[in-house]
Amino acid sequence: MDDRTFRRAMGKFATGVTVVTTEYQGEAKGMTANAFMSVSLEPKLVVVSIGHKARMHDIVKQTGKFAVNILRRDQEELSRLFAGQLKEERHVPFDWVNGHPILPEALANILCNVHSSYVAGDHTLYFGEVTDIFMKEEPGDPLLFFEGQYRSIGQ
Ligand code: FAD
Ligand code: NAD
Repeated sequence: MDDRTFRRAMGKFATGVTVVTTEYQGEAKGMTANAFMSVSLEPKLVVVSIGHKARMHDIVKQTGKFAVNILRRDQEELSRLFAGQLKEERHVPFDWVNGHPILPEALANILCNVHSSYVAGDHTLYFGEVTDIFMKEEPGDPLLFFEGQYRSIGQ
């Protein structure tokens, strides 16, 4: 099977969009990821799948912690930025909580310590044990990703 067929099929699964962030050498580092899932209530675990070519892969291995920032509808530009798809650099204001840089306008920020990891093909699954959660009180719609395109609810 060719890669295109696989990606086209996986693209039929609509997801939200997250930016995985961590502190590295005193600075914030982020990467767009839609391979995110809630895993367990006891203990509270989530998982993100990070490709071996991504710089974030080795960084999370070293830092042993990450935060998952669930993007809201109007944060498509941040998704493109942290996927390396914008030509120009941007200054992104982060909030800092317990050594984690987080995106303040995200729908939710899920702070984790790496619980375990599992190498699966050309990605590593990083399981995170959740240490803190921050959520916006006001309602907000999520940014969605479907068939390789950004969408929003009702669109
Ligand atoms: P880098 O190339 O080091 O950084 C990515 C970009 O973020 C760069 O432009 C950098 O300038 C910018 N950046 C980083 N930190 C900051 C900061 N503090 N301030 C400002 N800018 C900053 N890949 C996966 O492995 N797993 C996935 O689940 C996944 N899902 C994706 C979902 C979508 C919708 C998209 C578009 C891409 C996805 N990717 C995923 C691909 C991944 O986002 C890119 O390959 C990414 O560029 C790889 O990250 P890196 O760590 O090598 O990033
Ligand atoms: P796309 O059409 O390449 O992606 C559609 C779907 O295919 C994604 O939602 C994901 O489920 C899957 N997919 C894509 N690349 C993958 C990979 N390398 N490993 C495992 N699954 C993958 O979407 P696009 O808009 O062309 O994506 C932009 C860039 O972001 C591409 O370079 C793509 O490879 C990357 N991306 C990577 C992942 C991932 O590593 N899990 C997920 C989404 C996008």
